[in-house]
Amino acid sequence: MTICDVSPRDGLQNEPETLPAQTRAELVNRLAAAGVPRVEAASFVRPDAVPQMAGAEEVVKGIRRRAGTEYSGLALNVRGYERLASAGLDRVNFTLAATETFSRRNANQSLDEAQAAAHEVVERSALPVTLTISVAFGCPFEGKVDPGVVAAIVEGFPVAEIVLADTIGVAAPRQVRELVERTHAPGVHLHNTRNTGYANAVAALEAGATLFDASCGGLGGCPYAPRATGNIATEDLVYLLEGEGLETGIDLDALIATAEWLEGVLGRRLEGQVYRAGAWSGA
Ligand code: ZN
Repeated sequence: MTICDVSPRDGLQNEPETLPAQTRAELVNRLAAAGVPRVEAASFVRPDAVPQMAGAEEVVKGIRRRAGTEYSGLALNVRGYERLASAGLDRVNFTLAATETFSRRNANQSLDEAQAAAHEVVERSALPVTLTISVAFGCPFEGKVDPGVVAAIVEGFPVAEIVLADTIGVAAPRQVRELVERTHAPGVHLHNTRNTGYANAVAALEAGATLFDASCGGLGGCPYAPRATGNIATEDLVYLLEGEGLETGIDLDALIATAEWLEGVLGRRLEGQVYRAGAWSGA
């Protein structure tokens, strides 16, 4: 069971303001101190395209490494991968879309170009590679995505760790269960945009998934639905999984304290519910 907290990347990249690199590194350090086994620390994209992620190298320099936490970063092309590899992170999360239109709009490349870049990264990387397939269930431009298309992409990358992403939060549990079973993907990246995120997490778990992306406080949004909420909240997911008898290795109280700190940094209430309600020991 691995939880990857993506709030320093997926979460903060959807915020209207750009936080200083030091504050982003502080978030990474707080998550690691809470025992989060994997943290997506930064995104190596062009700062003019995503200003919130500018200074990725500085964020990495601000990380106080903690044993037991793996630090990953996101890349969308070979240039991003090269920056990531020289910054000194532990893992590459290369993201590739399931549809042509999303690939062109989000990464400014065709599906073929994106897959060729992904192959190059998988071949060249000395670091372990996660391949996240965005809009794996539904696309804001092309609608429902054919599971066969996603399965074909997955088959092309037998050595990468695969994560199926419900980028715009449209999936329902049956769809998640079927795609995890069909592709044997170990990982899912779920959004709670339409309140199916946690039910989808349980469906993925029952279908054999062992890797869950989530975001502290439920931070994150969707650039294609400005009023929508984002990722499932890490502390809500930890509460759910521990209640199901699984060991996450995460200190829930420390994670809740991190969400409270993040609420203060951003100056607004976050989407997560457990950090507001508090943990409950059952005593
Ligand atoms: Zn996300």
